Amino acid sequence: MKIPFSPPYINKAVIQEVNSALESGWITTGPKVKRLEELVSKYTLAPNTLCVNSATSGLMLALKWYGIGAGDEVIIPAYTYAATALAVIHVGATPVMVDVSDDFNMSVNHMENAITNKTKAVIPVDIAGWPCDYSEIQSTLNRKKSLFNPNHENQKKLGRILIISDSAHSIGATYKKEYLGSITDLTVFSFHAVKNVTTAEGGAVCLNLPEPFINQDEYNYLRCFSLNGQTKDAFTKSKAGGWRYDIIYLGLKINMPDILAAIGVAQLPEYFEKTLENRIEIYEFYHNFFKTKSWAILPPYKNDDKTSSCHLYALRIKNISETTRDIIIDKISKEGVAVNVHFQPLPMLTIFKDMDYDISHYPIAYNNYKSEISLPIYPQLTNKELEYIIITVNNAVESTI
Ligand SMILES: *Cc1c(COP(=O)(O)O)cnc(C)c1O
Repeated sequence: MKIPFSPPYINKAVIQEVNSALESGWITTGPKVKRLEELVSKYTLAPNTLCVNSATSGLMLALKWYGIGAGDEVIIPAYTYAATALAVIHVGATPVMVDVSDDFNMSVNHMENAITNKTKAVIPVDIAGWPCDYSEIQSTLNRKKSLFNPNHENQKKLGRILIISDSAHSIGATYKKEYLGSITDLTVFSFHAVKNVTTAEGGAVCLNLPEPFINQDEYNYLRCFSLNGQTKDAFTKSKAGGWRYDIIYLGLKINMPDILAAIGVAQLPEYFEKTLENRIEIYEFYHNFFKTKSWAILPPYKNDDKTSSCHLYALRIKNISETTRDIIIDKISKEGVAVNVHFQPLPMLTIFKDMDYDISHYPIAYNNYKSEISLPIYPQLTNKELEYIIITVNNAVESTI
């Protein structure tokens, strides 16, 4: 049996929606993007949503919106995909990496200790779809308000460190009964091909800024900023008599095209109404099997405060070395099951090593990494395939440890 890790979920509805964009005479940012933004806001209750061409761009946009640049610090977990850090570096600021907790997410204690008078934002990451402890993060930042040193209009208006959640994994996850998107100041979702909802490439920034911000005004600004700072998008300009425009900000060119938005327009309602539930069922299937194994550490997926979007099934194996984990992965792969590791902690990657980040400062991140194997999870998996996966993983582990 051959089981891929994360094929996209493409059905007739997706193909029809994409065809309708292709046949409409308009293929880049236009009505489909607007529809996808409305749908994200409808399901997550985010006051406003802006779609962009990736979550990486969305993070950069969020940082730039807050005037973050050279000399500023942004706190991020050491355990995440590289984009969280790269976005910070691309705007000229310094990523301050902190260690994580046993649930894979940024440790709020370590975050607190890393705050300085240069800290302008924190980017918690909901690893595998498991929401961070947002109330604790919020109250910690409120407590540290006196250290905050604003030097941009939006920083003065907010008066504290900005929370941008990297929710690349966690659309559909809930925190205190509310969907992510309406929890933190800014939430960035990814619609990359391997994520729970996809547009092939794409992302969304949900705006949920407190007063005195007017989210609609900030949305209008960001929309213009994401289109080269141009006062009219191409769709508006294409109408008769609409030719004149101006460039008013040094913006980015990170808008989402309608052809791609169409994929998301077809997927999003089905995700919230059905395929998210399929993911939860798969999680529970894995859980019921692995909880009987004394060597297994199960990933968190629900408690009184949180439910996961079940993006990754991050299985860990007690007390194993990185080498043993790699041997287990080889055995599983030889049986045709594609698995993965999420993530290599950032300080283990060349670019960050060259900047003097050192993995020895992040023992929990390393420990989570060295014992982790991500199993396939997507709605198309059949019961037969799921049975095959657990038997294959179990045989590989028990013949190795
Ligand atoms: C996928 C991912 C991103 C980047 O998403 P893109 O849309 O590919 O830019 C950012 N952060 C995390 C944690 C991710 O897994």
